[in-house]
Amino acid sequence: MTRPPQGAPGGMQGGSSGPSAAESSSPPRLGSPGTPAQPAASPTIATAADWETQPAACPLCARPDGRLLWRRHGFRWLRCPADGLVWVEPRLSDASVDRIYRMVDARKAAVLGGSARPLSGAPADGVSANGAERRGPKQQGNPRYRGILGGLAAGLGGPGRLLEVGAFDGDFLAVARDLGWQAEGTEINAAALARTRARGLTMHAGRLAELDLAPASFDAIVLRDVLEHLPEPLAELRRIHRLLRPGGMLYIWVPNLGSLTGRLLGPRWGAVVFPWHFVYVDGRSLPRLLEATGYRVERLASANLLWRLSDPWAILHGRGAPPGPLARRLNRWAGRLLAPLFRRLDARGLHLGAQLEAWARVDGAGPIGAEAAQGPDDQRDIRCGSVAP
Ligand SMILES: [Zn+2]
Repeated sequence: MTRPPQGAPGGMQGGSSGPSAAESSSPPRLGSPGTPAQPAASPTIATAADWETQPAACPLCARPDGRLLWRRHGFRWLRCPADGLVWVEPRLSDASVDRIYRMVDARKAAVLGGSARPLSGAPADGVSANGAERRGPKQQGNPRYRGILGGLAAGLGGPGRLLEVGAFDGDFLAVARDLGWQAEGTEINAAALARTRARGLTMHAGRLAELDLAPASFDAIVLRDVLEHLPEPLAELRRIHRLLRPGGMLYIWVPNLGSLTGRLLGPRWGAVVFPWHFVYVDGRSLPRLLEATGYRVERLASANLLWRLSDPWAILHGRGAPPGPLARRLNRWAGRLLAPLFRRLDARGLHLGAQLEAWARVDGAGPIGAEAAQGPDDQRDIRCGSVAP
């Protein structure tokens, strides 16, 4: 059954300016572009049949079917036997995803993790799409952002021109600018665009595919909690590849289905199980996806626990409650406690943290500048810095 979208089009984030979907320090890339909050969906809407959907195949090899991991709310989670990617079938149509992102009322905010404020005017203390809370502004110039940027600068020989796809409020870009990057972002949420531009940041309005950005013009491109929202990740990664100069670097931060919590909780892992996440990766399938699109993966790391049983889809439809502040705090503490363990396991190629990070390079010119020369110690520093919870 198909229901028409509520309200005006816009606010869809499943394209190149995907919504934030991740964890604590990540901004929400959700909400409608400057339109008022729409009424919440009826509580009776809770299965795929109530939404406009379309068939979906493996986003990497296009196999139409895979091994069934679980069913939930009328959606199937399938794992490709060839490459290990997991995708949701059927896939919510763009119109359906538009509609979800327009449900920017208190219940939607609650779904997303905490704040009851409408996301269309999302303040700094927002929430992220997988149910994790965002941190406040104080933590946002945070060590994690600095770790990411430090890793990129080390790999490139210094700061350069950086693009964040789906930059939302520009918190990450602002840190990048402070660290000497020529930082730019893309965003399709008009309200977020306006706020980010008001901070003096260069923002490109629209999905990557719609923008006229010069090929090979960026040193670094960042996808934080965007990959899982892309209906066509292969095409988008190739698009990004064209925008990177030879030797340029791509940084990705994405939920890790192969994490400790992902493995233990499976379909009950509220941090990941959203039908509006189209693709799920782990420490093996993410490199395959990147290599298939022309990148050389230089480093993988994982961090955080995100032990969550809440069901975002049900909460969206008026059933259940999002994790409370205590649960979120416990999650953070547990993540910090386990960070050294995750780092040790990462070094052995076992990525069990709830969020996966990848640094990948477009082959061509290597690092530029004398500072680019780095030994094992530098590598270790980068990794540690980048995964600090
Ligand atoms: Zn496949």
